[in-house]
Amino acid sequence: TRLPLVVANWKLNGDRELLTNMVERLQTLDAEQVETVICPPFVYLSEETSSIQKGAQNIASQESGAFTGEVSGRMLRDVNCYYVIVGHSERRSLFGETDDVVAEKVKATLSAGLIPIICVGETDEEREQGETLTVITRQVKAVLDVLPSFSDSLVFAYEPVWAIGTGKTASCEQAEDVHSGIRQILAGYNHELANTTRILYGGSVNPDNSEELFGSDNIDGGLIGGASLDVDSFMKICENA
Ligand code: 13P
Repeated sequence: TRLPLVVANWKLNGDRELLTNMVERLQTLDAEQVETVICPPFVYLSEETSSIQKGAQNIASQESGAFTGEVSGRMLRDVNCYYVIVGHSERRSLFGETDDVVAEKVKATLSAGLIPIICVGETDEEREQGETLTVITRQVKAVLDVLPSFSDSLVFAYEPVWAIGTGKTASCEQAEDVHSGIRQILAGYNHELANTTRILYGGSVNPDNSEELFGSDNIDGGLIGGASLDVDSFMKICENA
């Protein structure tokens, strides 16, 4: 069985005070029931967060050198950050990250000994044209095809672009369909990988809809945006996992 994982993606929000308050509350959760990770902006990653794990929202694909503004995997590891969100739809659409860039970043994450949370998801248009699984398959394979082995931990996050920040959540059936599709793709590479990989759902998850979503067989937790900026809401979501 897979331990549920709930990840706070603060995006370009939050501050030190929120981090302190959130860490204090999350520590009251039973770590054997749910694993929690906070992904604040880079500058807060060197703050002490005790037993609560930290994740980055992005990573450089390069290891070091003349790449102004970038942060490497080794640096993230150096400040005890163990997860990295890779290929979030905002990185793909606003910052030009292609499937190839995402694959390079996943490699950089793994080679630094970190765990990538690999985001995939279709747009509104793609869903309407019946291309959801085609798009997801392309995005997942772009990553898996470049990995030398499947011995490292990976996490996937299914985030339908039309559900991000819109208040529109995928129904449980829509999400479960895609999650089981992703697990089948993984099984095509490696059975162990398919069984152990956690697949999170993201997109307008809130305290009210999280219980039903997390109750689905192939939904192993969530990647939470807006609702992760409020300590009470995020706690409730974690309790529902
Ligand atoms: P919202 O929860 O605000 O819809 O954002 C989802 C998301 O993009 C998390 O990475």
